[in-house]
Amino acid sequence: MVKKILRFLLFLLLALVLFFGAVLIFPKIEPKQKLEVSKIMPVRQLDSLYWAMQIETLRKEFGNNKTLLPGYELQTLLALRHFPELKDVRVNFVYKKAVIPLSSRPNLFTMFGKRENWEFRVIVSNKSLDSMEPILLKNLPFDAQVAILAHELGHAKHYQQYGFWQLLKFGLMYAINSEFRAIHERSTDEIVIYHSLGWQLFEYAKYVRTDPSTIEGYEASKDFLDKNYMTPADIMEVMNNINAYGLAAPF
Ligand SMILES: [Zn+2]
Repeated sequence: MVKKILRFLLFLLLALVLFFGAVLIFPKIEPKQKLEVSKIMPVRQLDSLYWAMQIETLRKEFGNNKTLLPGYELQTLLALRHFPELKDVRVNFVYKKAVIPLSSRPNLFTMFGKRENWEFRVIVSNKSLDSMEPILLKNLPFDAQVAILAHELGHAKHYQQYGFWQLLKFGLMYAINSEFRAIHERSTDEIVIYHSLGWQLFEYAKYVRTDPSTIEGYEASKDFLDKNYMTPADIMEVMNNINAYGLAAPF
């Protein structure tokens, strides 16, 4: 009996090693985003009143195959406006209790079917630990909300280029390799800047580090946050290198 169990465990171990080995060795994946400058002109601050009046136009153009969250429709549609490549991709925003303020991943159950039917889920936390509460979407300024939603869309855009096995490997690498994770997250911030929401991301990065409600939480996890996400200074540096922001000195 013991022998049988041992043999079974050995078989299971071998199968697991082979599976993870195959996933890790074969598919090619890249933690960095492909950076292309968007054609949309960046603005220092979004005119939320103007856009609120345009919401139906935005919904028609960017709301296809999206499940939006009541109360955050405008912010999400504005973020989607900066990712036109996701126009027809299914993105489902879900509002629920979660420790991490925002996260996104492909919905595994949809991935056995056709690629056009794959769905990406963005989970937005409505309740977290007390220390996380001030940086939940509901407590951020309008522009910062648009930026962080755009960051999640950046992930969806990155996943779009991969097939099933590549995504599996990506998920594994993200989970086990903190360098891979940091490169990917910082690069996802960068894509938000390239997609013309640099000032909005600046607003977000500044808010989570300097607002009276967030500063204590930031100090407690400074190393993690600054390693994985761009600081306001990092964001300024990237904006400096993109002409559309008009920040570079003329000479
Ligand atoms: Zn992220």
